[in-house]
Amino acid sequence: MEFSPKSKQHIDSCRFCWMCHHICPIGNATGLERNTARARALSLSLVARDAIDYSDDVISNVYECALCGACVADCTTGWDPVMFTKEARLKAALDGHLPKYIMDMVSNVMEKGSIYGKIDTDKIPDFKPSDTLLFIGEVTRAKGCAKNAVELLQRAGVDFTVLKDEPNSGYSMDFMLGASAETKAVMEKCAKVLSNYKTVICYDPSDAKVMLREYKEWGIELKPEVVTFTAFVAGLIKDGKLKVNKTDLVFTPQDSAFLARDLEETQPVRNILSACGNLREMLLNRKETVLAGNSIMHEYMGDVMKKVAKNRWVNAKNMDAKILVTECPAEYMGLMEVKPDDIELMTIEEAVLKCL
Ligand code: SF4
Ligand code: SF4
Repeated sequence: MEFSPKSKQHIDSCRFCWMCHHICPIGNATGLERNTARARALSLSLVARDAIDYSDDVISNVYECALCGACVADCTTGWDPVMFTKEARLKAALDGHLPKYIMDMVSNVMEKGSIYGKIDTDKIPDFKPSDTLLFIGEVTRAKGCAKNAVELLQRAGVDFTVLKDEPNSGYSMDFMLGASAETKAVMEKCAKVLSNYKTVICYDPSDAKVMLREYKEWGIELKPEVVTFTAFVAGLIKDGKLKVNKTDLVFTPQDSAFLARDLEETQPVRNILSACGNLREMLLNRKETVLAGNSIMHEYMGDVMKKVAKNRWVNAKNMDAKILVTECPAEYMGLMEVKPDDIELMTIEEAVLKCL
């Protein structure tokens, strides 16, 4: 099977390397060599040489990577397993060999707008029109609730709106298919809707990541200014629009890989939590953060993702964390599922609301 020369070079460089095996949250959860970047590269190098088939087993291994970028950040020689893993997913799609659990979610996004199928929007209240949009994202619309985020913006007097028929950002398609025509079509549809706004506040870091990175990379024009929810809230506190009280609470940020590695945004969460209380850092923080959850993998590797979240709780306990604070709905969901009794878990907006 043909890989691009760039992917092939990265695959060949990783296949006999052992340097980042300790860093992979999935490998650390399963204890299996197949879940290291190197093992994935080794099997793809054999596929690239037509020494083995691109079989169902190799393809399912390609979907056992969270694309979290920890290996990329750790690699001192600059090789990129995320890049070749995404290309391998695209090839599986083009060959018509997607695993059924992926194909079902792709069909759901294409036909019903989310990996979960049609989202029930009855509980979303009507908002007045505004040129500022709070973009909630498919995970929170389907599984969670943005009530606290909405309350926080309202208490700061922000004029904003929320869409009942919010489009899909394309993050899940990019995760499942990489740079396919279908992924691009979903992103273009979203960019068109967003062009009606001056500012888009992205609640979910995964949506902010694709809007600020993949849209640009693929030449999809995005008219509004896109800002992460965390950065927006940090700005409200800095400008005195949200007056928080500094409490005795001790907060530990669980850096989102999307924010810390993809968007290089790590300071706003610290500015917020320092204004609200005291900061205690997590083991492996900022760009070295460890993934604690992934909404898509939660659908087909639920037990492994539970272990991933449990491992992150062990890190939090070892740092004597009192309140772990997450900016990512998928990580909140994963961490909450296995939360120990003696540590609190809060979203960033819950932490701020507690200190108003
Ligand atoms: S990403 Fe770097 S450290 Fe990891 S296997 Fe590849 S070459 Fe080795
Ligand atoms: S991107 Fe993340 S999940 Fe995938 S191999 Fe690298 S460290 Fe593991």
